[in-house]
Amino acid sequence: MTAPAEQARLTLNTGATIPQVGLGVFKIDDDAECERVVLDALELGYRHIDTAMIYRNEAAVGRALAKSGIPREELFVTTKVWNSDQGATETPAALATSLELLGLDYVDLYLIHWPAPTRGRYVETWLALEELAAKGLSKAIGVSNFEPEHLEAILEAGNVVPAINQVELHPAFQQRTVRAFGEQRGILTEAWGPLGQGKYELAELPGLNELAQKHGKTIQQIVLRWHIQEGVIVFPKSVRKERLAENLAVFDFALDAEDMAVMEAMDSGKRVGTHPDDGNW
Ligand code: NAD
Repeated sequence: MTAPAEQARLTLNTGATIPQVGLGVFKIDDDAECERVVLDALELGYRHIDTAMIYRNEAAVGRALAKSGIPREELFVTTKVWNSDQGATETPAALATSLELLGLDYVDLYLIHWPAPTRGRYVETWLALEELAAKGLSKAIGVSNFEPEHLEAILEAGNVVPAINQVELHPAFQQRTVRAFGEQRGILTEAWGPLGQGKYELAELPGLNELAQKHGKTIQQIVLRWHIQEGVIVFPKSVRKERLAENLAVFDFALDAEDMAVMEAMDSGKRVGTHPDDGNW
């Protein structure tokens, strides 16, 4: 395996660091393909993998991690508890299953995947995550798809401030309110769907093609670089090795203040995914 590429790392409120660019493996359903993609990514220098119980590929991720031979402490592995596994007894069992599938003794980050407010169990689930972290089964804990009101509820009931809130975030949906709430409380933001999940044409965003030409980069690299300079963590998904390489090659240029203003103006407040209050599956 080659040495990790030069990459930025951010510091979590636990003191641990997280590579700012990782690989997301949502919808890489085929086991063999998932294993191959994770191995390709690790070979290219990725050290951060974002999976979830519901992606049904933790075993394939785990096989790739083991085959890579990369020391455990160099890897940053995230998984998430699914809605139906929320609860004081269900969540510890779910993490035990995830760890077994991943072939790991601990994950670096365990997230509540969705608040699922109509289920009414996310606060109880947060308290379970606090205990799992105390036992060392997850080095850090956090949430995903939490709006400020959901964060308020766990901050009120719990003793640990989430390290991360992972939310939908891309140029058309920049999440300024959720990010500001997190910033004030030491919660870092991770972007899911950083490329809009391919659900809209990035090329049609005003000014993006021009920025790509100016910097001699692809529009996807400009978008990822913007996330990085905004202090957001990204893990774009691709199964193609050349795109994995492209998505990591975002540390050799910088957007200036004018470029960042062009990016900021792309925010139309339009989600491509589900509103957190509606993700109660
Ligand atoms: P994404 O924005 O990463 O988009 C992926 C799409 O972009 C794929 O179709 C891929 O072919 C294309 N793409 C990737 N790199 C490209 C490149 N360089 N050039 C052109 N096209 C490129 O969307 P995503 O996979 O949904 O999000 C990333 C990760 O976020 C997921 O894999 C998963 O780990 C996580 N996620 C979390 C949640 C959550 O609820 N917490 C929801 C969705 C995704």
